[in-house]
Amino acid sequence: MNVPFLDIQTQHATLRAEILELWGSILDAAYFAGGVYVEAFEESFAEACETKHCIAVSNGTDALRLILEAISLNPGDEIITVPNTFFATVEAIIQAGAKPVFVDIDPHTYNIDVSKIEEVITPKTKGILPVHLYGQPADMDPILSIAEKNGLWVVEDAAQAHLAEYKGRRCGSLGLAAGFSFYPGKNLGACGEAGAVTTNDADLAMKIRMLRDHGQSKKYFHDLIGYNSRCDALQGAALSVKLRYLLGWTENRRKVASLYSEYLNDVGVVILPSVLDETKPSWHLYVVQLENREQIQKYLKEKGIHTGLHYPVPLHLQKALKNLGIKEGSFPVTEAYCSRLLSLPMYPELTEKQIEYVCGVLRSFVL
Ligand SMILES: *Cc1c(COP(=O)(O)O)cnc(C)c1O
Repeated sequence: MNVPFLDIQTQHATLRAEILELWGSILDAAYFAGGVYVEAFEESFAEACETKHCIAVSNGTDALRLILEAISLNPGDEIITVPNTFFATVEAIIQAGAKPVFVDIDPHTYNIDVSKIEEVITPKTKGILPVHLYGQPADMDPILSIAEKNGLWVVEDAAQAHLAEYKGRRCGSLGLAAGFSFYPGKNLGACGEAGAVTTNDADLAMKIRMLRDHGQSKKYFHDLIGYNSRCDALQGAALSVKLRYLLGWTENRRKVASLYSEYLNDVGVVILPSVLDETKPSWHLYVVQLENREQIQKYLKEKGIHTGLHYPVPLHLQKALKNLGIKEGSFPVTEAYCSRLLSLPMYPELTEKQIEYVCGVLRSFVL
């Protein structure tokens, strides 16, 4: 049996006609930047995230960067985040002119360890940027109360957390603003690059709309130095079609996750993801921890099962961040975890047979 890590083709096979019809009309109208399809998508995605505003942009990294630029940072301002995330979280902080300050992850949820946040707050700290990693909501209540107590804002990296829920509320609606990615492999993927900002703050939304389009308040009137960071019409149209299926896909991912947990529950040497009470992850990834990760990954591959590593190198040990001067050993939970994690195949169309097969092969190796 062959079990790919990700299968986007199956999803597209059923949506092909719908997407191509919209793309045909875009070709005919030759209106490619923004426009009605992007606006319609923004409206539906804001509704899906339970926020007042959604601003579609060119990718998830820019979504985060534009939020941080709109907040107006000063050089030396510090933003708290985690060393176990995709590199873009920190790129956005640095590109916006601020300094990332890391807090280690919680050994159970793999998200920011809320008990360690206050230790790193300084007079220069401006905000906290929690990541809902793998689609597991970060523990937002304590994060928000620490932020409030210290006069900080909270911006969510929701790039992996489309429709994830924290205590009955959707990720993307929990802080001042949130950045989403629609990279093709994300839970809601464009047919190319796209991203979005969600927020309830009207002024911030307006500023981000300007920043994504050369700082224009109207055509050829530039109030700010901005970027070309618009979402194109082809992506807006494809995303509008796919968004209608997202809740169903998310429910399927939740089924896949519960089957994995059921079949692997008694395998003590495989540590399964634990979920915070009153949260519903979006299950972008299903990540387990085990010893002998390299051998197991190789064995699974021989049996036709493709897995991933998210992420093999902690951010504070990346070459590009050398000048932060953070030594190995500074974030022991993240460092130990990076060599033990393994992401199992995860997508809505994964069948029960495939899941059984993956778990059977994994069991046969470790037991
Ligand atoms: C994918 C991702 C991003 C960046 O999104 P792009 O659309 O690839 O620019 C940022 N943060 C996290 C956690 C991500 O997974």
